[in-house]
Amino acid sequence: MSALQVLKAAPHTDGQRAAHHRHPGPHPGPRRAGALCKVHWVPSHIGVRGNEAADEAAREATRHPAVALTVLPSIQGAKVLARRAAICAAEQQYRQLVQTSRQAAWHKQATKNNEPLRPAQQLSRAEEVVLHRLRLGYVTLDELRDGFEERPCEHCPHMTPHPLSHYLLSCLATERLRQCVGPESAAALVRQFQKNLPLLLEVARAAPPPR
Ligand SMILES: [Zn+2]
Repeated sequence: MSALQVLKAAPHTDGQRAAHHRHPGPHPGPRRAGALCKVHWVPSHIGVRGNEAADEAAREATRHPAVALTVLPSIQGAKVLARRAAICAAEQQYRQLVQTSRQAAWHKQATKNNEPLRPAQQLSRAEEVVLHRLRLGYVTLDELRDGFEERPCEHCPHMTPHPLSHYLLSCLATERLRQCVGPESAAALVRQFQKNLPLLLEVARAAPPPR
């Protein structure tokens, strides 16, 4: 439909108003000023052989049955898909690990299913290492040795077969922490401590966790 046909089909009898109705350009000035606006049809492409052929080809194409094409994703789309697949695979692997690995189960409990830690302050490398170890529920070197039964705590007179659990649950050096959170399993306590990182770091600096 040509522009003139559009204007003619418009509900306005006034051609000027119809032109503005259909083509609300950035310059409404003439209408406000009461100027007369004339629209002329120009036979620009009528009868041009190539143009007629292009029009006919376009009309012909609309009569073809619809074709469903598989469009490959863009690079950005492919990256998003790959990222989702990687996250999905990692989560699946994590779920399997939690079933079989004591440290993964600890990490799940200590981080509330991998909830990221958001410290309110910039931590030193040593402090980050301490927090990371607590979240992983690491095993001390002594526990890895054959025949290990128990070892003395570095901060109180206790002998313990589970140095980290003792440090978190019953060591005198960390008593201040437990007063804030209440008795829970060692891994759950780590999660609770993270709500008050400054206190946790203060205690860990004065009395480092067992290694
Ligand atoms: Zn102790």
